[in-house]
Amino acid sequence: MPRLATKIVATLGPASNTPELLEQMIRAGVNVVRLNFSHGKAQDHIDRAMMVRDAAKRAGREVAIMADLQGPKIRVGKFAEGKVMLEPGQKFVLDAARTELGDIGAVGLDYKELPREVKAGDVLLLNDGLIVMVVEAVRGEAVHAIVKLGGELSNNKGINKQGGGLTAPALTAKDMDDIKTAMSFQADYVAVSFPKNATDMEMARQLCNVAAAEYRHKPGLIAKIERAEAIPNLQAILDASDGIMVARGDLAVEVGNAAVPALQKRMIRMARASDKVVITATQMMESMITNPVPTRAEVSDVANAVLDGTDAVMLSAETAAGKFPLETVLEMANICREAEKAEFGELEADFKGKTFDRIDQSIAMGALFTAQHLGAKAIVAMTDSGSTALWMSRHSIHVPIYALTPRLATQRKMCLYRNVLPLLMDASSDRDTALEQAERHLTKRGIVQSGDIYAITCGEPMGAPGGTNMLKICQVG
Ligand code: PGA
Ligand code: MN
Repeated sequence: MPRLATKIVATLGPASNTPELLEQMIRAGVNVVRLNFSHGKAQDHIDRAMMVRDAAKRAGREVAIMADLQGPKIRVGKFAEGKVMLEPGQKFVLDAARTELGDIGAVGLDYKELPREVKAGDVLLLNDGLIVMVVEAVRGEAVHAIVKLGGELSNNKGINKQGGGLTAPALTAKDMDDIKTAMSFQADYVAVSFPKNATDMEMARQLCNVAAAEYRHKPGLIAKIERAEAIPNLQAILDASDGIMVARGDLAVEVGNAAVPALQKRMIRMARASDKVVITATQMMESMITNPVPTRAEVSDVANAVLDGTDAVMLSAETAAGKFPLETVLEMANICREAEKAEFGELEADFKGKTFDRIDQSIAMGALFTAQHLGAKAIVAMTDSGSTALWMSRHSIHVPIYALTPRLATQRKMCLYRNVLPLLMDASSDRDTALEQAERHLTKRGIVQSGDIYAITCGEPMGAPGGTNMLKICQVG
């Protein structure tokens, strides 16, 4: 099976929680496993992380683990009968002071600040926008509303305000505990839900670094862009993060469905231009939760995200709770592979008018340029931190990038980088020996053969992070 440039993130859940299935999913193309901290207890996540590491070992492919924090999901309380059926035109009260269970006329609130953050005329969207109500008045702790779009409202469903504006901090006490849990198994990425600005991400990074210090670990931080407020702060959020997720589920509720496709393209463009990674998420293969084949629209959606330049496409309920988790991964991999063939190399345009003033970055760009012009079989980056491979992977090129690193944590982190195949290799500190080792590693795996040309980058002295200063063009003897 030819390798894929696009990475696949799959969410673990009851439908995929067995070692055998997980191993098959990894073999089928999963590069990143997402643990959803909105469900389950600390020990469940610890057990699952172990299971992921074991399955990856059996599959012979390293994967990254992404711990996705629940964040301040703003929710209604519970109902006496679990749910109610709301009719358009009826009155309904969201009451922060209510202690008894909800009924057809009113429900309590998990999010107690709501009455202070909405006013008459505001549009509230409940249950991912399936229910719409307009605020008529706020009296004390009670938000009085008229239902515009009715439907079933059940326990603990989320509330969004159209256009954004709810101030809940991005990190809850539960998130802070969950960060400790995630660091205990050295999650490679932590995804922060509902950040509004760079400060939310800086705070998350500090908490992660403190919790991970005893393991000498530094996770990558992914900002889930799912609030209207995050959009004007996108550049600052990117600067404070290692990557972003186009979190189309919640984002669509806040900014309106129709605004999401253009935002997705802008976010992908901005992330790549900022040397950050980007994951496109939510409802990508939604119909495969129940059907063995995707819809034409889903196929187009996944292919278009690939053509937009996303690093990864993500599966949520499809693999966590669906009937066809393995089939979904296989199908998604197929769509990505086909879309990549039509990908347009745009190196010349990327470099036009640009100055690279760092030595390591110029070397990385030089490797891309040379490899393209010589029709090289591979680009090889010997990298400690992974940054050379990251820079290279921000540009569309049909030559595959192989990243050789002595660090397991770097290998795992690079699992998310588009067009990068990360390999573990303990290189000699002598440069010439290291280059020979690299070539042996590549030929043994069938990546290059006699006669093939490849471009390789490394740093001298070897093993110093950020020290890439050498590009060599080699022909296999
Ligand atoms: P969620 O985030 O699945 O954790 O809600 C993704 C999204 O909102 O799209
Ligand atoms: Mn979300």
